[in-house]
Amino acid sequence: MILITGGTGYIGAHVAVELLNNGDQVLILDNLCNSSRTTLGLIASVAGRTPGFVQADVRHRRTLNSLFREYPIEAVVHCAGLKAVGESVRDPLRYYATNVGGSVTLCQAMAEAGVFRLVFSSSATVYGDCPQMPIAETCPTGQPTNPYGQSKLMAEHVMRSTAASDPRWSVGLLRYFNPIGAHRSGKLGERPSSTPNNLLPYLLQVAARERAVLKVFGNDYPTPDGTGVRDYVHVADLADGHVRALEFLRGETGVHVWNFGTGRGYSVLEVVQAFERASGVRVPLSFEARREGDIARCWADPAKAARQIGWKARHGLEQMLEDAWRWQCCSRERGEPLALATLPATGR
Ligand code: NAD
Ligand code: UDP
Repeated sequence: MILITGGTGYIGAHVAVELLNNGDQVLILDNLCNSSRTTLGLIASVAGRTPGFVQADVRHRRTLNSLFREYPIEAVVHCAGLKAVGESVRDPLRYYATNVGGSVTLCQAMAEAGVFRLVFSSSATVYGDCPQMPIAETCPTGQPTNPYGQSKLMAEHVMRSTAASDPRWSVGLLRYFNPIGAHRSGKLGERPSSTPNNLLPYLLQVAARERAVLKVFGNDYPTPDGTGVRDYVHVADLADGHVRALEFLRGETGVHVWNFGTGRGYSVLEVVQAFERASGVRVPLSFEARREGDIARCWADPAKAARQIGWKARHGLEQMLEDAWRWQCCSRERGEPLALATLPATGR
C-alpha cells in the first residue's frame, strides 16, 4: 500500500489514479485545506477503485503513527503542502510550519514505523535564478526568491540529512517544472482556492469569461518575444513519473533527484497562442509590469529521469492545454464552484 499525503490535491489525485491503475493499494491523507472530499469519488470513477482516505493534518504525529500501525504502508508519496507564492510572503511561518514541519513529522513517523521509501513533491524553484539553461540536477540549488521556494529547499535538506543518518532510506526528490493540464476524462484538474497566481488557471478563467483579461507580467525579458519562458509539463506525465520513481527506489538507497520537465520552454505568448489553437477561444491580453520575484526563463534537462527511471514527458503543449480546457468546461457543466474558497468552512 502507498500512502499519498495531499492526495486529494491537484497532483496527488493524478498520482492516486496512476497508482490505482498500476494495481497498487492507495491510502490518502489530506486535511482538505485546499481540496475537497468529492475528489475521492472522481478518482474512483476514473480509476475504477476507491482509495482509502483519512482527513488529517500531516503534522499530526499520533495520526501518522496509527496509520503506519493499521495499514501495510510500504512507501509514501509526500504531496501535502501549501503552494501559493504570494501567500507565503505574507504568511511565511504557516508555509514553514506546513512544508518543513510537515516533512519533519512525516519522516519521524516513517522512521519509527520502519518505512523508508519516500517520494517528495519538490519544485524547480529550488534552483532559484539559474544562469544556465537547460537546468540539470547538478546545477546548484540557488536562492529561491520567496518563502514557498525556501520551504521546498528546506524540506529537501530535511530529507537529505535524514537519509544520510540511516542507510535504509530511499528518497526521490522530484523537482517539478510547471505542471499544467488535467485528466483526459475532464474529471480531475487544478482548482485554485482563490484568485489564481499561476498562468494556466488564470488563462482558463479568462477564456471561460470569468475574468476579463489575462495580465502578461513583463514583455521586456531577454527572451525571444520578451515574455517569461517556462517548461510546462502535463500532470498525467508527472503522475507516471511518481510510479516509476517508486519502482526505482524499491531497489535503491540514498537520495535521488530528478527533474520533471519536458526539456522545452515556451513563452507566455506562445502558451496563449497554443491555447487559442487548441480551444478555438480568443484570450484578451494586457501587458503589465514584471511580477516581483519572477525569473526570465526556466526549463529542464530531463535526461537523468529518462536514463535512470525511463521517464519522459509524452504530452505536447497543445495536448496539455486541450485537456486543461476540457476540465474547465466540464467542471462548469458539473456546476462546480469557481474557487474552493466559496465552499462552506466545514469539509475544508
Ligand atoms: P494542491 O494544493 O492541489 O494539493 C496539496 C494538497 O495538500 C491539498 O489537497 C491540501 O489540502 C493538502 N494539504 C495542505 N496542507 C496539508 C497539511 N498540513 N496536512 C495534510 N494535507 C495538507 O497542490 P498541488 O499542485 O497538487 O501540489 C502538490 C505538491 O507539489 C505541493 O507540495 C507543491 O508544493 C508541489 N509543487 C506543485 C507545483 C504546482 O505548480 N502545482 C509545482 C512544484 C511543486
Ligand atoms: N504569468 C503571467 N500572468 C499571470 C500569471 C503568470 O504573465 O497571470 C507569467 C509569469 O510571469 C511567468 C509565467 O507566466 O513568466 C509562468 O508563471 P506561473 O506563476 O504559472 O509559474 P512560475 O512563475 O511559478 O514558474
